Amino acid sequence: MNFLRKPLSAGLYLVATPIGSARDITLRALDVLASADLIAAEDTRTARKLMEIHGVPLDGRKVVAFHDHSGAADIARLVAAIREGQSVAYVSEAGTPLIADPGYELAKVLVEENLSVTTAPGPSAVIAALSVAGLPTDRFAFVGFLPAGKTQRETEIAALRDVGFTLVFYESPKRVHGLLVSLRDVLGTSRKAVVCRELTKKFEEVSRGTLDRLVADFEGRNVKGEIVVLVGRAGAIEVGDDMIADALRDAMKTMRVKDAATAVAGALGLPRRQVYQLALTLEDRR
Ligand code: SAM
Repeated sequence: MNFLRKPLSAGLYLVATPIGSARDITLRALDVLASADLIAAEDTRTARKLMEIHGVPLDGRKVVAFHDHSGAADIARLVAAIREGQSVAYVSEAGTPLIADPGYELAKVLVEENLSVTTAPGPSAVIAALSVAGLPTDRFAFVGFLPAGKTQRETEIAALRDVGFTLVFYESPKRVHGLLVSLRDVLGTSRKAVVCRELTKKFEEVSRGTLDRLVADFEGRNVKGEIVVLVGRAGAIEVGDDMIADALRDAMKTMRVKDAATAVAGALGLPRRQVYQLALTLEDRR
């Protein structure tokens, strides 16, 4: 037995479940599923199956449906159960609830009503994809699914053109080529991108290249499975000597030359030595 059964305090427990390999479930997720008074699930069959795989018995506990089409009455029922002292575990179809999955409206009401919302964190395709992509992970923007229509999709991509973060999109296999074409047309042919398919599953595949290259690679392919597309950050802004000099003059009003050079180099992402040389020239001219 891989789980511990223990009384849980009243509240909503957002439980992450595997995005492919069933063994990616966490021990705490199993504890919560084994112990909650009530289980709510985006897909009750998937939830029951997952519990069965891991030997977590239901023992007469109910598994109720809560999905995108659930309305205010369904939320009210779960809120009432929690208010009465019950612990409710919520699982979406796969991965982390609320991440391109249902759960937000429910969590929002509970937070507003000062009831407990907690998590048993675990797998999510966005994090799995960032881990393997080989693109910068210090700053990323999760975009999720874009609209299916080309014009609307490209308008949304255009708004992301200058975002200096790695961009992460979810996409269906049927539309991945269309998404890559839109990304190439709006962001340019040479932006780095990665397509992650079927992460943690038997046919896991990670394709890396420029947008131009990936468009060609996916052309005419009958793509299957689940997909995350990542795009490298917008290129660094060209920094000319005039821009560095202006920043240095400003900084040198309040700082010593050395400190000003360090601050400006850090802010503009330039080698400190280069900025310090320019700072010394400016100092000589003062
Ligand atoms: N809540 C989930 C999460 O935390 O990642 C996402 C749910 S969303 C409805 C499903 C989308 O996630 C898929 O269409 C795909 O874009 C992505 N996804 C889920 N599992 C994946 C996997 N094993 N490999 C690649 N992408 C995956």
